[in-house]
Amino acid sequence: MEDGTVHLDNNLAGFCEALPKLSQFARQQQVSPVLDDVLRKIREGALVVDQLPRLGIPRDVFEGQRSTDHMIVPGLGSRSAAESYSCPNGRCDRQVRRTPGGPVPECWLLDRPLRRTRG
Ligand SMILES: [Zn+2]
Repeated sequence: MEDGTVHLDNNLAGFCEALPKLSQFARQQQVSPVLDDVLRKIREGALVVDQLPRLGIPRDVFEGQRSTDHMIVPGLGSRSAAESYSCPNGRCDRQVRRTPGGPVPECWLLDRPLRRTRG
């Protein structure tokens, strides 16, 4: 998996992070079954960009967007008190800082707690 030939889906981190909002959107638009199917496809390896239009969302909505909780600021990187968590199966490159004592962040895509990477 880590030999460099596996291309990370750049949109997955943004998608994963936006999922709570997306499911709300899907309920409002009454397309929750479509979202369920989209999620299943993405878990099976489909690209986010190919699935977004099915929800009426532009393919490029997450393009180049880094997870906003990806708080790695050069020069400020030594706040090692915070634990860092990432996607449990490495599918997306989402990195979440856990507030000390706060709840373990979840991967919305997999519906599983994120895996602790360091801290
Ligand atoms: Zn994830």
